[in-house]
Amino acid sequence: PSRRREGDYRADFPGLGDSWHYLDTAATAQKPQVVLDAIARAYGPDYATVHRGVYERSANMTLAYEASRRRVAGLLNAASENEIVLTSGATDSINLVAESWGNANLGAGDRIMLSQLEHHSNIVPWQLLAERVGAQIDVAPLTADGQIDLDWIEENITEQHKLVALAHVSNVLGSLLDAKRAATIAHDVGAKLLLDGCQAAPRVPVDVQDLGCDFYVFSGHKIYGPTGIGALWAPYETLDAMPPWKGGGSMIDRVSFDGTTFAPPPGKFEAGTPHIAGAVGLDAAIQYVEAIGLDTISAHENATLAQAREALSGINSVRVFGPDQSMGILSFAVGDVHPHDVATILDEGGVAIRAGHHCAQPLMDYLGVPATARASFGIYSDERDVAALVDGIERVRKIFG
Ligand code: PMP
Repeated sequence: PSRRREGDYRADFPGLGDSWHYLDTAATAQKPQVVLDAIARAYGPDYATVHRGVYERSANMTLAYEASRRRVAGLLNAASENEIVLTSGATDSINLVAESWGNANLGAGDRIMLSQLEHHSNIVPWQLLAERVGAQIDVAPLTADGQIDLDWIEENITEQHKLVALAHVSNVLGSLLDAKRAATIAHDVGAKLLLDGCQAAPRVPVDVQDLGCDFYVFSGHKIYGPTGIGALWAPYETLDAMPPWKGGGSMIDRVSFDGTTFAPPPGKFEAGTPHIAGAVGLDAAIQYVEAIGLDTISAHENATLAQAREALSGINSVRVFGPDQSMGILSFAVGDVHPHDVATILDEGGVAIRAGHHCAQPLMDYLGVPATARASFGIYSDERDVAALVDGIERVRKIFG
């Protein structure tokens, strides 16, 4: 990465400029120039399809596509790149697990353990599955500081539970899950653990083998890569035992009207022409992140977030949600001003935050609010963004008395 000064990553991001304060990275991250360049090359001088062409350009594009899969495997410390399915994002990955693994492994009377803070994409696919097969969903409560209550899960999980599906980092509260403990609790009753890594992958070093989880999903656009690409990790034996989900070209071994046989994983789960340029862009994004280092990124974000937390705690009438040690995300309320009004006034000062339910309506119900204001930070966020956020909140307080 090219930088104007050590630790100043802003210059790498053409989407930012000097006077705009982007604090909505948890929704989607801005893209560094290296990612834009990689996508432009993939659609320009390097463009061709993958996995089919015998001509050199296509063979090279296949190498680039498969290099992206290897890069994702490296990011998650998967045992093999054949354990990585490239999907259109976390939502697609979770639906893949629910439809393929879920349909094959859950039946009437089985149970699924979720938590109160899950994103809708880690709730609705399981509700659809539960309705299809007659399973039940249990919802783990949160601790007073907004962590998933693992003690409660430990006490309430049973051998009927076939799956525990939890956010590794919450997109509203920034709570970091003790994923190793969650894996132990799940495995003690023979359940599998799916981790929703959307907010963790961009800011926490992830080692799926060390965590001991069974499925890990994330989206490319939250880790500084393009939209429309993401990944599912599962051990090879798990993927191998899972039936195909979407049918089409590429995912087959041999097709005839007497019956079709399927490609081995991960190809079995990648029907159709894939998002080639997306995969190339994701590879560039992961290289960018790894060149800086996830430890450096989380230290930088934590320092910026600590400044914001400290400043907000000094403002009368501001309520902050979630644990003190939140990861990159700060949800708050300004008195009883509606979060949409907070966000609108902040926007007038060039500060972009998110206001709403953050696709986590059950969590809003739990917090007893219709919505929250959320500032979320990335590698490019710094003290100027925090100062602009604080100025904006002071303006909100003035306008609303
Ligand atoms: N889970 C979490 C924790 C998220 O933050 C998001 C995105 N807001 C998702 C799942 C869904 O990701 P996508 O929309 O990229 O599929």
